[in-house]
Amino acid sequence: MTIKYDAHGLVPAIIQDATTKNVLMLGYMNEDAYQKTLETKKVTFFSRSKQRLWTKGEESGNFLNLIDIKNDCDNDTLLIQVNPVGPTCHKGTDNCWGETNTSNYGFFSTLEDVIAERVANKDTNKSYVASLFEKGINKIAQKVGEEAVETVIEAMDNNDELFLYESADLMFHYLMLLQAKGFTLKDIEAELKGRHK
Ligand code: AMP
Ligand code: ZN
Ligand code: ZN
Ligand code: ZN
Repeated sequence: MTIKYDAHGLVPAIIQDATTKNVLMLGYMNEDAYQKTLETKKVTFFSRSKQRLWTKGEESGNFLNLIDIKNDCDNDTLLIQVNPVGPTCHKGTDNCWGETNTSNYGFFSTLEDVIAERVANKDTNKSYVASLFEKGINKIAQKVGEEAVETVIEAMDNNDELFLYESADLMFHYLMLLQAKGFTLKDIEAELKGRHK
């Protein structure tokens, strides 16, 4: 890999969790640190404060196990994907910005939050979610069944537009059912991960 090191012989390396895609920390590497990282499969930086190679986790055991290294568009910034052992920040948090390294499902996570907010506010006149929750869990489950059947019907038709529409209906009602049962998408992820390999 062609890496453009700066005048100090260093290249910035963004450390990203390979699974959650969250950024964990930023460090600097020189050529030796890069080679050592490849050899040991444990991320090693050149510490500017210690002025030596520093394998993250050498004291704490909180290693960054190497999954992949990517060079950016002009070869001057590395993206290093890792499986972290324990918290990455020496202050004890998952990343160096004090954040928790949990999965995020983008807009689906936003929808989970919106559903929770509507349920809490109980504004059944304004909110479809609130009114459905008020009718009880059996009603929500029944709606999931209906949307599932509609999705199946459109899958067997040849209308992709309706299939997409009903799939969205199904997904939305399924998110409500999950929440009514006290679960989140993270619980589903954990279950699926448990079955993986
Ligand atoms: P460790 O590499 O985890 O064994 O930590 C050894 C030392 O490196 C710590 O005492 C800190 O001084 C420093 N250190 C560890 N993790 C970080 C980090 N994420 N960012 C900056 N410095 C760190
Ligand atoms: Zn660049
Ligand atoms: Zn830190
Ligand atoms: Zn529908």
